[in-house]
Amino acid sequence: EVVSAETRKKDSNFTHGDHRTQQSLARKQLIAQQRKSLPIAAVEKRLVDEVRKNDTLIIVGETGSGKTTQLPQFLFNAGYCADGKVIGITQPRRVAAVTVAKRVAEECNVNLGQKVGYSIRFEDETSSTTRIKYMTDGLLVREALLDPFLSRYSIIIVDEAHERTVHTDVLLGLLKNVQHARSQSMLKQQSFDRLNGKNPVISDKEVKNQGISGLKACQHAKCAPLKLVIMSASLDARGFSEYFGGAKAVHIQGRQYLVDILYTYHSEPDYLDATLITIFQIHLEGGPGDILAFLTGQEEIESVERLVHERARQLPEGSQKVLVVPIYSALPSEQQMNVFKPAPPGHRKVILATNIAETSLTIPGIKYVIDPGLVKARSYNHVTGMESLIIIPISKAQALQRSGRAGREGPGKCFRLYPESEFGKLIDSTVPEIKRCNLSNVVLQLKALGIDDIIGFDFMEKPSRMAIVKSLEQLSLLGALTDDYKLSDPVGLQMARLPLDPLYSKALIMASDFKCLEEMLIIVAMLSVESIFYFPREKLEEARASRKSFLSSEGDHITLLNVYRGATECLEKSKAANIKEKTVEKSLNKWCRENFINNRSLKHARDVHSQIKGHVQQMGLVISSCGDELVQFRRCLTASFFLNAALKEPDGSYRAIASSQNVQIHPSSVLFRTKPDCIIFNELVRTNQNYVRNLTRIDPLWLPELAPQYYEAQK
Ligand code: ADP
Ligand code: MG
Repeated sequence: EVVSAETRKKDSNFTHGDHRTQQSLARKQLIAQQRKSLPIAAVEKRLVDEVRKNDTLIIVGETGSGKTTQLPQFLFNAGYCADGKVIGITQPRRVAAVTVAKRVAEECNVNLGQKVGYSIRFEDETSSTTRIKYMTDGLLVREALLDPFLSRYSIIIVDEAHERTVHTDVLLGLLKNVQHARSQSMLKQQSFDRLNGKNPVISDKEVKNQGISGLKACQHAKCAPLKLVIMSASLDARGFSEYFGGAKAVHIQGRQYLVDILYTYHSEPDYLDATLITIFQIHLEGGPGDILAFLTGQEEIESVERLVHERARQLPEGSQKVLVVPIYSALPSEQQMNVFKPAPPGHRKVILATNIAETSLTIPGIKYVIDPGLVKARSYNHVTGMESLIIIPISKAQALQRSGRAGREGPGKCFRLYPESEFGKLIDSTVPEIKRCNLSNVVLQLKALGIDDIIGFDFMEKPSRMAIVKSLEQLSLLGALTDDYKLSDPVGLQMARLPLDPLYSKALIMASDFKCLEEMLIIVAMLSVESIFYFPREKLEEARASRKSFLSSEGDHITLLNVYRGATECLEKSKAANIKEKTVEKSLNKWCRENFINNRSLKHARDVHSQIKGHVQQMGLVISSCGDELVQFRRCLTASFFLNAALKEPDGSYRAIASSQNVQIHPSSVLFRTKPDCIIFNELVRTNQNYVRNLTRIDPLWLPELAPQYYEAQK
């Protein structure tokens, strides 16, 4: 009896395993078939030839034609990774780097982090065997700090170049330099060989003229010329081509079905509500097909997600269900892949996305697009030197890209939540970010790369001189530059090494002196994520009461600190109880639910925390805690963020000292009601008002004491 039971068990195991093999075989076949049917598959040979013939090539192709996932594989197969060289592909967005790398690893039938990997700030999934490496453009700029010739790369593909993020623009300038330097050092290597009787290509005179430094650089880089591929979804390749000395551009014919575009009759006063109504209108009246709605950020997405869930519960029994899938950059990477999973039978998928889904990600199955026509963007005031986040109308080019998402697999519909007359008023294409952001980070990085003449740097589009001068001033005030505007040692060097906004880097360095680095690490991590607290409409009072238990009358920073400390305590308790890791996570999630803390955001903050902790440890900064001596910590905040101080005016509004701008305390701040006399803040948000967020109450006398370089000079 026993024996036969054993046998039966084995048998069932076997069948089960067999079934799985069959499933994975079917999936492999499906993927192979999908790859073959992509528009880019038909031009593989031609593209590889063009890359071979041109040092710089521009590839323009409709979203979904297969550029990002296929081209690196074509080049790998064409031998560009011989001698262990790497093909690098940069993305403006973290999510795209992660999801695409996962997809390509699957297509290549390898584990992620082997042949195919990704590397983004705070997450590295590569190894010495990685040959196709997806990364953010900002990360590659950082790599150049350690390896100025980017010598491990045979090809660098700058993807989504049409987005023109500030990192892309800096990277393009940098790559142009590196490419030049590498072909120079190649020439020198040839002449060096000739001197040794090897390869007579260049005259002795040229060798003398070029001197010995080039040879050293060359040995350092062991360089073959660097190939560049610039990929873009926008049809206009001229700008890139001109910038790269008339580089060749090739176009990949895409596939696009007709998309019916619908406008509203009137402007919508509340676009979130309008989005919600449209989702259910389509769901109840439209034919099959998934819905993609474009929202501006995590907070909006989460609130619409809740509203959809609420309303979906009221759908009549037996009707088709909705499956809501959010996607935005700060989403934990395990959850990002959910957008690609098909909805289970009986469900319609509703994807709520930031403009990440505009061109960076191609999500299959979409038939309906909902476009409120807005995007969250950085905006910079040249006069005040202040950067803020604002929600602005998209450009015509963006509106077209968004509607195009509905017509990838068949005819679709796009619901623009604004009147047709508004479309005509949109600008043609988005202003490059470099023209509308604070340049301190750019300046710091270029200086660290040894580029001292920022104003003379060959940008594709030059930022204003005034913006550059402002950032130089700011960096000097932070102590990152010497009197003659060179990077200072150690502060400037340390700041450049940290992958953070210069103000945050400065805060960490300061905190080491103020003996509160443990607290500052937490704050920088918590400020790097969106919406820690969460206020569900139906439990607003409970949520408010819960926040009170973390609340510090000193302000938001210490309130955030209390949350993080609370979470750590919960974790330590369950670890001490010696339970399994999975259960520890579960108990933390429970703690989050009970305390109305956003567990996605908290998880992200914990990841960021452990990463930057690693950085500051490597830099040799001393991590100590000020414990309950929080005055010390507030003084440190003052010494770090003194550029963002504001004084209360008689009417209860505030005046930002550096910019003389009138600002209000954001209603989300714990200081909204108390209105202290003097505050420092981290963020300026503009809606109909200038709001400041993430504040701490300080003593105004601390300003001249702790930042005399600024406040003494102002007198
Ligand atoms: P492009 O870069 O030209 O916009 P991609 O290479 O990103 O195109 O996408 C090519 C195809 O691969 C698309 O049809 C898309 O649906 C599919 N694809 C990409 N990533 C995934 C994924 N993670 N899961 C399923 N399909 C994917
Ligand atoms: Mg792409």
